[in-house]
Amino acid sequence: MNNYLENLNESQREAVVHKDGPMIIIAGAGSGKTRVLTYRIAHLMNQGIDPFNILSLTFTNKAAREMKDRIGTVVGYSEAKNLWMGTFHSVFARILRSEGHHLGFPSNFTIYDTQDSVRLISSIIKEMALDKEIYKAKKVLSRISSFKNSLITVKAYYNDPELKEADKMARQPKMGEIYHQYVERCFKAGAMDFDDLLLRTNELLTRFPEVLAKYQDRFKYILVDEYQDTNHSQYLIVRALADRFQNICVVGDDSQSIYAFRGANIQNILNFQKNYDDVKIFKLEQNYRSSKNIVEAANSVIEKNKTKLDKEVWTDNSEGSKVKVMRTVTEVKEGRFVANSIFDNKMNLQLQNSEFAVLYRTNAQSRAIEDALREKDIDYVIYGGLSFYQRKEIKDILSYLRLLINPNDEEALKRVINYPARGIGATTLDKLSVAANHYKKSIFELLCSLNKIDLNLNSGTKTKLINFVTMIKHFQIEAQSKNAFDVTDFVVKQTRIVQEIEKDGTPEGVSKVENIQELLNAIKNFTEEQKEKEEDDSLAFFLEDAALASDLDKKAKDDSPKVSLMTIHLAKGLEFPYVYIVGLEENLFPSAMSMNTRSELEEERRLFYVALTRAEKQAYLCYSQNRYRWGKLVDCEPSRFLQEIDEKYLEYLTVKAPEPIQNKFINEDIFGSVPQNKIRFKKPIQRTPIKKSTAPKIEFQPPKNLKKVSKTSATNSNLFDNNIVVGNVVNHTKFGKGEVISLEGSGANQKAEIRFASVGVKKLLLQFAKLSII
Ligand code: ATP
Ligand code: MG
Repeated sequence: MNNYLENLNESQREAVVHKDGPMIIIAGAGSGKTRVLTYRIAHLMNQGIDPFNILSLTFTNKAAREMKDRIGTVVGYSEAKNLWMGTFHSVFARILRSEGHHLGFPSNFTIYDTQDSVRLISSIIKEMALDKEIYKAKKVLSRISSFKNSLITVKAYYNDPELKEADKMARQPKMGEIYHQYVERCFKAGAMDFDDLLLRTNELLTRFPEVLAKYQDRFKYILVDEYQDTNHSQYLIVRALADRFQNICVVGDDSQSIYAFRGANIQNILNFQKNYDDVKIFKLEQNYRSSKNIVEAANSVIEKNKTKLDKEVWTDNSEGSKVKVMRTVTEVKEGRFVANSIFDNKMNLQLQNSEFAVLYRTNAQSRAIEDALREKDIDYVIYGGLSFYQRKEIKDILSYLRLLINPNDEEALKRVINYPARGIGATTLDKLSVAANHYKKSIFELLCSLNKIDLNLNSGTKTKLINFVTMIKHFQIEAQSKNAFDVTDFVVKQTRIVQEIEKDGTPEGVSKVENIQELLNAIKNFTEEQKEKEEDDSLAFFLEDAALASDLDKKAKDDSPKVSLMTIHLAKGLEFPYVYIVGLEENLFPSAMSMNTRSELEEERRLFYVALTRAEKQAYLCYSQNRYRWGKLVDCEPSRFLQEIDEKYLEYLTVKAPEPIQNKFINEDIFGSVPQNKIRFKKPIQRTPIKKSTAPKIEFQPPKNLKKVSKTSATNSNLFDNNIVVGNVVNHTKFGKGEVISLEGSGANQKAEIRFASVGVKKLLLQFAKLSII
């Protein structure tokens, strides 16, 4: 494919072929920024630039892989493979692996994820005998994280009276000491947390000019996607690396800056022109992603923000359907509406699950959606939240793996030294911790010299500890010759974790074992893929992949198409034909925690803009009148963002909730599955109308072929002869649970095609079928 320049409009092409010097592309959503970046890299390579000299920083590893693939189609995969491309974290972890020794880190350093860090901070707080209600580990970690992202080292903290004063005022005078301990302990364990990957890179580039010069020379061209969400630390790294050649190209959209809460600094994009001389600015205005209705609806909201650069976004795409708004009574019904609507769209329009995404403000909202999708047997994949790699059994196994790669990894060691139980208690572990601190050794090193140091342990305990060390060393030997899969398989068998879990015989246990199986599948997949590409298939390499993969990359490797569920933050840069945005309620979205200042509220609005602009063909905006929050059912009000959209782009779908007596048999599951053309709109019934003047005049009328049934027959299993509708989930006395796919005929001849989980699709004459709606 060498005609790539033809797949660009004129402004895009100009940006792609522009060669040297600093440049910035600021443009709205869906205008091809990422496409320009991708083609620009291909173009540079076509012009003879060595891929080893190109550094491209993306928002997710998934985005990097996709870009590499696309570039591969233009310039060939073997060349594209040599690009330096990935997230800030993954690229700089790679650099730190080769250069970290300057800072005293081993090349096999462990990357601590948030849970590891929280665990370590908790034990520091405990050891310092501090009140854990005042020093909440997660809060302490986020404070430490903000220090690191602002490049405030422990020394800088101690030298800053204002910081110390602020912590004193917050009744946390020991913050500095915890920070100090935390940094030391990570260092001793040969570990870095996510923030360290940036902080230590900055330290490396500042303290070692020869290292800086080496990478400045290497990266002749630097390209950054989603520049609006870089933090100070990332900004400094990019600036330092680009300083020599100044061939820096950044793309972004200030209206999509959504990570200020994690230290992203929108000023980085706004000030880019001040940082370099002769910056070439490119603007892209045409949106290729979304229908006119979606683009204009999104524009009508974002224009309410005061802080933004002037930008036009327009599209030549067709007008498309209006953005649909759905009100439900509870979150359960919201979930069912989404599941039913996805089901109907799939059936009516012959779509795949992968064409749908459900976006929410907070992870916890996924549960109701998941339940509803499961009810309808719709496959989905969750990005983020308690994702696969966060589950206990997976973390246990990963800890064994981490430990054998880096035995100084204290968090991993503490996790598994007594799991499965081998009689090494907390007291022993405490003793070991104290001694390790005293001797300035890691716990594992201490365990290796147990015979030389008297720790006052009884001989039984000593033997158990020695057995543990022997086991880990045995694993290490295996790892030297085996690939990632074979080592993991070996570790799982030797540790007998599966047998341990199976002991309890609960359904949770079964699912845990399945998860372990899935982990082995994932590692198998990894080794096969690496083998095919003739790349490193070792465990160390896999672990790096697993630790660094953002939640977005942790998708289970199964090829069947799935509906994507994720927070809006994770959806940045992605696109889907059909998008459902749920939970559009005040205090949820905008979040109650982000409504105190204009800038917080503007960030929430940008988040809404990001959500809406993910949709290509159709967007649904859902809100519920009630929702459980912190265990209590609360009344909710529609989000202000709904009101901010120009109403001419909206269509209200609200259906009336059924009268309990009149329509006993109709539960809300049915409503969503009623084909839209069977809903007749009559008069306004909204309890909390979005706008009185524009409240939709709609009411639900059951399809004509539905008839009322008495209470007794409603509970009787054989109640339907002709009142079933497509989309119902039914129970059959013999075949069990199934879903009605289609109906034909009427009266005594009415037949239904039903897809049963047990036997697949069956056509049944309703008159005789013993069915009940679930
Ligand atoms: P976001 O702000 O959401 O990150 P973006 O500006 O990076 O969006 P892209 O993802 O690069 O936009 O492009 C949006 C969609 O439009 C993609 O599907 C892309 O392939 C398509 N597209 C971009 N430019 C063109 C073009 N010139 N012709 C056809 N399709 C295009
Ligand atoms: Mg993009």
